[in-house]
Formats: sequence, structure tokens, C-alpha cells
Amino acid sequence: MSDDDETLDRAAHVRRDGEKLDAHLNDGRTILVPVWRGQHLVAEGRAVLPTMEELGAFVDRGFELAWLGMLGDRGCFALDISPVERPKEEERLREVGELSDLRFVAAMMSDRDVSLLKFARGLLHWHRNTAFCGKCGGKTKPREAGHVRECTNCGAKHFPRTDPAVMMLVTHGDRCLLARQAGFPQGMVSALAGFVEPGERVEECVERETMEEVGLRVRNIRYFDSQGWPFPQSLMLGYRAEAESDEIRLDEDELEEARWYTRAELESPQGFFYPPPFSLAHHLIQSFLDDD
Ligand SMILES: [Zn+2]
Repeated sequence: MSDDDETLDRAAHVRRDGEKLDAHLNDGRTILVPVWRGQHLVAEGRAVLPTMEELGAFVDRGFELAWLGMLGDRGCFALDISPVERPKEEERLREVGELSDLRFVAAMMSDRDVSLLKFARGLLHWHRNTAFCGKCGGKTKPREAGHVRECTNCGAKHFPRTDPAVMMLVTHGDRCLLARQAGFPQGMVSALAGFVEPGERVEECVERETMEEVGLRVRNIRYFDSQGWPFPQSLMLGYRAEAESDEIRLDEDELEEARWYTRAELESPQGFFYPPPFSLAHHLIQSFLDDD
């Protein structure tokens, strides 16, 4: 286990340093971040970070590894344990923690743990979805400690992908707009969001998505903050924007419901809730409450 105060140094130079990588792989103290089909090992609100000594048997079985970086003086790898069919029956895993979706446990965790698990999740998701070359269909193999995949047929190199997406909190006077997508948990509403399209500026995307989803023209588009969101591979860019009118025209294919909320309603929600503190949506809504 490692000290929570140690933040990850991605130490990218090690990715191409075979000697250093071998030394970390052969060091029993090396830390592993196991990921099973998008889920993480968690115990008592903390990420379980076993050592090579504890889970090295999976590495010996050929499970995929990707270099994450240095935690203090120890190397750290993401370990894909997805090939295990029934993780609950694997003694080695069952003893150390439970598999959980990061979105449900992140609120309890340290920032260090959350960013470490997000990195491991995103990187391994990309590996599992890039087994074949997008150019020729040939098989790909990991290179550079899991930060490149190379096609064994045409030699094309593939790099981890991150898709930019916008999230915008649209306000009109002293109210802000929150909406529900059909797939949201029961009762949850959030800020509008959508993916940036090829060739588009982020601000254009904010304008377009707001127009498409709720029929509102916006102005005063201001960048707020961003959040790595590897569910599965996005980068959320948060914006505030002001609507020119309050007449909502809902796109029913995209949204189930959208309406204006006052600060009083958001301060003591009745019959609805908005995303928890771990999320960018929460911080956007909090910024609106703090405007007052
Ligand atoms: Zn190829």
C-alpha cells in the first residue's frame, strides 16, 4: 500500500527505457492498479493498490500492463485483470477489496486515488478497444510500456484517445437550466452536455449543442474548468453561458426534460438531485449558487 500524499509523477521518459521498466517489473514493491472490465478494487473508501509481490501471478499469466508512473520511489502500472472470468472466486482479489464503479465511490476517495484510477481505467479501456488496426484490420501490439499500440501488419502506430466534450451551465437571470437524459439515474438532473464535432471550436459546440437540445441562443460563453472523464474516454470542458431568452424547445430524442431552477430550489432540492461533488456538473452548479 502507498501513502496517500504521494501524487503520481507520470515519468513519461520511463516509457521508452527498457532497463528501467524491467527493474520496476522485477521489483516486488512496484504498485499495481488492477482494473476489471472498467471496475476497480476498493476497500473502505480507498483504492486498493496491491504490490507486484501480491498480484505478480497475474502478470506472469500474460495479463496486460501499462506504465502509469512513479508513486514516491516506486513504479506503478495499470494491470488489466479483465480476463479473469469470475473475480469473486479469485482468492487473491477477494481478500483485498471489492470491485466498484469509480463513479459511485469517487466521492469518498482522495483526489490522488481518483486521478490514479481514472488514468488506469482510461488507458486500459483504450487497449481493449484497439486490439485491431483501424487502417488495415491487422492485430496491434502494445509498445512504449502501453502508451502506443503498433499494427503487426502495416506498422501503423495508434495512440490513446481522449474525446473532447462540453458541459455548459446555461443561466437566464437568476435561474439556471438543468435537464434529464433518459439514461440518468431516477431523479437526477444535470447541466447540458455534448461532444465536440470535427473541425469545431469548443465555443461553437456550446452554442450548437444548446440550440439543438433546448432551442436556446447563448452569449457570454465563459470557460469554467475541465475534468478528465474516462467513462469511457472523454475530457469534459465546463462552460457557463447566458441564454438570450427563457423559452425552452426540448429535443425529445436527446432529453426527457429540461427546465429552469432557482437558487432556492437548488439549495434544498425536492424530488430531484444533481450530480455529487466529484463531478464537474456539481462544481458548475455550485458556481452559480456562489454568484449570488
Ligand atoms: Zn495496420
